[in-house]
Amino acid sequence: MTQLSLEQKKEMYGQNLLEWYHHIQRDLPWRKNHDPYRIWVSEIMLQQTRVDTVIPYFNAFISKFPTVKVLAEAPEEEVLKCWEGLGYYSRARNLQAGAKMVMELHHGQMPTTKEEVAALKGVGPYTCGAIMSIAYNEPIPAVDGNVMRVISRFFALDDDIAKPSTRIKLEKLVETMIPQGQARYFNQALMELGALICTPKSPNCLLCPVMEHCEARLQGREHELPIKSKAKKARVEYRVAAIVEGQGEHAGKVLVRQRPAEGLLAGMWELPHVLVADEQAAVLYESELKEQPELGRAIAEELHTQHGLLVRPRQWFCDQDHIFSHIRWNMRFFIADSDPEQLTRLEALEFGSNESSPLAGINADESNLQEVAAGLAADGLKGTPSSAALVAEKPMDYTANENRQSSKNELRFIAQKDMDSLPFPNLFLKILQKYWQSKGEA
Ligand code: SF4
Repeated sequence: MTQLSLEQKKEMYGQNLLEWYHHIQRDLPWRKNHDPYRIWVSEIMLQQTRVDTVIPYFNAFISKFPTVKVLAEAPEEEVLKCWEGLGYYSRARNLQAGAKMVMELHHGQMPTTKEEVAALKGVGPYTCGAIMSIAYNEPIPAVDGNVMRVISRFFALDDDIAKPSTRIKLEKLVETMIPQGQARYFNQALMELGALICTPKSPNCLLCPVMEHCEARLQGREHELPIKSKAKKARVEYRVAAIVEGQGEHAGKVLVRQRPAEGLLAGMWELPHVLVADEQAAVLYESELKEQPELGRAIAEELHTQHGLLVRPRQWFCDQDHIFSHIRWNMRFFIADSDPEQLTRLEALEFGSNESSPLAGINADESNLQEVAAGLAADGLKGTPSSAALVAEKPMDYTANENRQSSKNELRFIAQKDMDSLPFPNLFLKILQKYWQSKGEA
């Protein structure tokens, strides 16, 4: 084999890759045209998510929000609902915030310069490069983890791809590799090579269009590269949650809560839950179910102090783990009873202004709540919580956010069919489906 100079290698790489791509490129819905809005949506969805998973979400999203304008004007809850199950929900909120920027700053037309695209909310260097190259054929690199792997292997680079400086170095290198007038196809071809051939665990070198000059293959290091230092281990949090069953007019329904407008899973709906203090949590979880009453009291107390509701945890339902990028939730779920009499008394106090929900605004006046709760406890309610030592978390701010487009209801009793309109993170979707199934309603 003849030895090639670096420039010759790059040229050969581009030729071989493009030829291969034109033969094998997959027919994906976002490749039907070069509309920058569709490319933007697809690239945001594809972050951390497999193509097969994204396809139905992309189709549904585009048919519901076919233009930047429709997306910008949609209620946030509808956007989150369309994203339900895809995870990393801040992507959806940022996408909508970016759409609003396009409406305000660019009269509803997608911007066409690198600086303007990069300034949109949620658009980082990779997404900017993908939009600029695929939509406008501008020679701007789009370097994500896949591309870093492919390029590191081809040139046998020992740089740690977990470091931001490596990404910058590789962006500069890839920029010099883009064949003239072919940015659109070259960047997509690189992504395709990383997805189909030069995969993380089992690179298929024998089918690779650039195998002839690939240094990692020639040196037998294709499984060793790229170098990637390990990410920090996710922090473990122990949480206890309640499936509070409604009574009386709420019979057959369960209590759900909307998360604050900022932070993790912002604006999504969930079953009420509370973080258990570290020093208690491991012991309690390891001791299996015999410590249930204490854990049950922790969630009862949360509902009492946060929302003025007194509930009685009745039985263990299930345990479920969920990993976010930086936190792991180990959760224990209890079924809990609510008392129709308590609810009637809470409703009668008219804390909230929204009359559509009997629980609307019940956290609006803390002093009133404490008074009511104390009164109810004095009435002889059993299981009055007394487990402050178990609860590690400062009360989360569930106060209604005036900017939120949905109603002010932070707590709501819902039937199974109501899940069609409220966005839930995967974890709670799974638990609620399991619960309805146990009731024979799924
Ligand atoms: S030859 Fe193997 S290691 Fe090199 S780029 Fe192709 S698939 Fe990756």
